[in-house]
Amino acid sequence: MARKRILITGAAGFLGSHLCDRFIKEDFQVIGMDNLITGDLRNIEHLFKLENFEFYNHDVSKFVYVAGNLDYILHFASPASPIDYLKIPIQTLKVGSLGIHNLLGLARSKKSRLLIASTSEVYGDPTVNPQPEEYWGNVNPVGPRGVYDEAKRFQEAITMAYHTFHGLETRIVRIFNTYGPRMRLNDGRVLPAFIGQALRGEDLTIFGDGSQTRSFCYVDDLVEGIYRLLFSDYVQPMNIGNPDEITIKEFCEEIIKLTGAKQKVVYNELPTDDPKQRRPDIIKAKAILGWEPKVNRAEGLKITYEYFKSLSEHEIKHKDFTYYNNK
Ligand code: UDP
Repeated sequence: MARKRILITGAAGFLGSHLCDRFIKEDFQVIGMDNLITGDLRNIEHLFKLENFEFYNHDVSKFVYVAGNLDYILHFASPASPIDYLKIPIQTLKVGSLGIHNLLGLARSKKSRLLIASTSEVYGDPTVNPQPEEYWGNVNPVGPRGVYDEAKRFQEAITMAYHTFHGLETRIVRIFNTYGPRMRLNDGRVLPAFIGQALRGEDLTIFGDGSQTRSFCYVDDLVEGIYRLLFSDYVQPMNIGNPDEITIKEFCEEIIKLTGAKQKVVYNELPTDDPKQRRPDIIKAKAILGWEPKVNRAEGLKITYEYFKSLSEHEIKHKDFTYYNNK
């Protein structure tokens, strides 16, 4: 029987590359697409030798053409860290609006099932904790995160409209903070920031007083949740994340213990609109997908630390953002 064919956008990114691995493992024909603004081919270079993997260097904000049939599309192309939103705000908006429009058109013409990567950022700076899917959020459309948050909210809206109006098969996953190997060491997110600082012998930077909370999910758990959602019948948005909530200050202490860092912790200004609390309500994922996270933070952090340590000294030291120059 011919292999099922799946298009994965953002294939060279952190989550996209792990999804490519998973669908290759499940014997799909995987068509990866990425414009490499924030993605890195090294994340998928081990796949190029495989006959069931193809890759296209393409910006999905422009018309997307894929030859042949297509059973599934996963839209994971997007900048996804607060530093990215500041550096490339227009691309962030375009991939979540023009990009998804192109992919919806492609899905219609190929009769594919489309799953989109949404985010806990649709809840903004939430006033309820944990956040259930029914919560509508508290988003500042014109703040620094607005380009991401509103693009993702629009993406959910247009995806749902194609589902209800055109009967397209769609799935929406709301992804909470996720970590693991292949995160960019210089993407500004808190985990690579702390580990990078520990490895370079720099002071660790807590933003604000560190009382804000996050809930970190190991990437393998996330991929399993997405896999189950894709093959479920559930069309409403679904939270996938780890509800084990921790303050950033406690998280910093865990990283210091893990890395044995001797340098001091400094407190910097809290970025604008930085959410004070974030924790997924995963009642739906548990009931509908039979899913819950399996990897605890101690295990996940150890694997992730080993990954960062295995990078070259140049990569660990290299902190600028030259990859944006290719656009
Ligand atoms: N943060 C921090 N120090 C850093 C980087 C981030 O204290 O060097 C904080 C940031 O202000 C936020 C939390 O860590 O409260 C998580 O930030 P991240 O950029 O990872 O993603 P977010 O969850 O805010 O989208």
